[in-house]
Amino acid sequence: GRKFVVGGNWKMNGDKNQINEIVNNLKKGPLDENVEVIIGVPAVYLAYVKSIVPDSIAVAAQNCWKVPKGAFTGEISPAMLKDVGINWVILGHSERRSIFGEKDELVAEKVAHALESGLKVIACIGETLEEREAGKTEEVVFRQTKALLPAIGDKWANVVLAYEPVWAIGTGKTASPQQAQEVHSSLRNWLSTNASPDVANAVRIQYGGSVTAANCKELAACSDIDGFLVGGASLKPEFVDIINATN
Ligand code: 13P
Repeated sequence: GRKFVVGGNWKMNGDKNQINEIVNNLKKGPLDENVEVIIGVPAVYLAYVKSIVPDSIAVAAQNCWKVPKGAFTGEISPAMLKDVGINWVILGHSERRSIFGEKDELVAEKVAHALESGLKVIACIGETLEEREAGKTEEVVFRQTKALLPAIGDKWANVVLAYEPVWAIGTGKTASPQQAQEVHSSLRNWLSTNASPDVANAVRIQYGGSVTAANCKELAACSDIDGFLVGGASLKPEFVDIINATN
């Protein structure tokens, strides 16, 4: 079976006080020991969070650049993340794509370099409302995933896919369990053909987009939903309940 994996994406939120509260709440838990937990932290707080969370909780950067070092003002490399004890990075988030103009090709270059550097990657994909309404959901999700295939190569064991329909992110409009399961299932089928049946069977696909304590259990019950990537609710005490959604 695929180990359930729940990520918290704090985005550009939190200060030291709030971070201490969030971490204390996670320490108090109790957290299902069979669930992998990864918190995505603003870059400036990565080392601090790493120093205060138990080793059972992984810490992720929310972005990184595509080469090890050099004249790239404002950027952070996978090597630097590794150097401060960070083993995960979230790449291709829809906010990176839409606000910062990251295209499939750049996301793929970042994924390739992060994996080569020994980081594990949560790679995000998902369609906009316009694309869904035009019946292009699968086309978009397959295109975004196809761009990642050469970047991932044989390193699928270090990748988690996050399906995050853009219309569900931060809107309170969660995809229904049926809507999410449908995309997860067709993505897994697509991977079976275009990567391999083993990859399709083993890769974990998280759902993201307005996940809350109230809707997580129904989503978690879907056979192809292997976890969540949680934004707003990951800043709140209910994140513990979302981690424990399969209980
Ligand atoms: P929300 O849970 O706030 O909708 O955000 C989802 C998300 O973008 C996680 O990466």
